[in-house]
Amino acid sequence: MNFDSIGWAFDNTYSKLSNTFKEEVKPTPVHNPELVVLNDRLAQYLNLDFSKIKKDDLSQIFSGNSLPKGSLTLAQAYAGHQFGHFTILGDGRALMIGEHIDKNNNRYDIQFKGSGKTPYSRNADGRAALGPMLREYIISESMHHLGVPTTRSLAVVETGEDVIRESILKGAVLTRVASSHIRVGTFQYALISKNKNDLKTLFDYTLQRHYPNLKKSESSPVDLLKLVLKKQVNLICNWMRIGFVHGVMNTDNMTISGETIDYGPCAFMDKYDPGTVFSSIDSQGRYAYFNQPRVAKWNLERFAECLLPLINDDNEIAIPIATEILKEFPNIYKESWLKMMKQKLGLLGDEPKDEKLIIELLSWMHRNKADYTNTFCYLMGEYKKKNQIYNETQFTLWKKKWENRIKLNNISKAGSLKIMRKANPLVIPRNHLVEGALQYVNEMNDLSKVNELLKILQRPYEKVSTTSIYQSTPIPEENYVTYCGT
Ligand code: AMP
Ligand code: MG
Repeated sequence: MNFDSIGWAFDNTYSKLSNTFKEEVKPTPVHNPELVVLNDRLAQYLNLDFSKIKKDDLSQIFSGNSLPKGSLTLAQAYAGHQFGHFTILGDGRALMIGEHIDKNNNRYDIQFKGSGKTPYSRNADGRAALGPMLREYIISESMHHLGVPTTRSLAVVETGEDVIRESILKGAVLTRVASSHIRVGTFQYALISKNKNDLKTLFDYTLQRHYPNLKKSESSPVDLLKLVLKKQVNLICNWMRIGFVHGVMNTDNMTISGETIDYGPCAFMDKYDPGTVFSSIDSQGRYAYFNQPRVAKWNLERFAECLLPLINDDNEIAIPIATEILKEFPNIYKESWLKMMKQKLGLLGDEPKDEKLIIELLSWMHRNKADYTNTFCYLMGEYKKKNQIYNETQFTLWKKKWENRIKLNNISKAGSLKIMRKANPLVIPRNHLVEGALQYVNEMNDLSKVNELLKILQRPYEKVSTTSIYQSTPIPEENYVTYCGT
């Protein structure tokens, strides 16, 4: 088979780092792979062309049975604080197959998830199930189209083999694309390495890969901390904007690039409740919706600890420098959050009562169990279903205040609406929609609902004929629960 027409252009730099950082390991072949979904648009974006490849061959490629020329498969080592507890981890069921370079010289990690055991698998099977891999495909692609930095999904293949969880499920491999998989946890791993050069090696590699402009700086570790902080603030504000709850913000699931990674127990909030938690194991609400900025800061503190030896040999000098930067997190976050919320409400300029106006709306939504996404759609005139909740007195009073505030914008109402439309999606991958689509796959082997959902989620800010169908909220109101280690 000649797959040269695909256009893979591998240049594998991570594999050149010391053995501390990875283990070379091949995917475990599977018996009967079958391609379920291939992301043609993403392939095109990556300058990859699969159009001349037969489906059987695609199944071999995306299951890891047939590795592309130039690939070098490895499992990455990392550590991480999981729910606050430090653990040595690593890719237990994922393998990087290589770094692909597109025509604009952008570098992407291509990674299989669910491709078999690695030296970091501990007692687990190294495999993944079809439902969760399709779910990651749908949600990560949706996040991309919602304008949120994220890893992406190129393909899902069924392995033809069972995986055993609470029940017997179909196995699958997801191909994930990321600007890199360097995590806070990778730095934590390097920090405790016996080889003292490892931390500096990883630091230099990270600068070269993500922030080459910092190489010239005399205080590059400090600048990296500042930059990663800003990236994370931007990321969390985006999550808050669309009602996304990541669900497992362990330090091994926080990237240095600022991309969302690891779509395990994540889910989107329907009715507004700042305490929203979906993950079955998050009983304390550590990763609840409103806690996400606080956890991001906590994770950045762990990242800062890794940078201390690079900031200064003397901790007494390094710690105050890092502390000073981290102290700024609440202010930087608050400013960014306010800016984002003002966009959601179409508010221009700064008025003293803006924050109060925002908080009043959020509090009303919380008290009245109003749907987060649809409330903003309603304000934009894009939620037309009859809903008595929006005739409620407190809401109409608030709306009057909001309309008066909009008048201070010095632009037309249409201008304000334009700002709102960029910040407020009309559709999100609501849990009941995603579950409904996956049910069709699991029970009837029917991908039509998944494909319809993927299609509408490609244009979440545009009104189309079916928009209102996807604005439906779960009935009856059930408590949606997600699971880790899927
Ligand atoms: P996650 O919660 O997905 O971030 O995973 C945490 C750690 O558990 C990572 O090191 C994963 O590689 C590992 N892991 C999760 N599921 C499996 C599995 N089925 N087999 C092996 N390792 C796994
Ligand atoms: Mg993870």
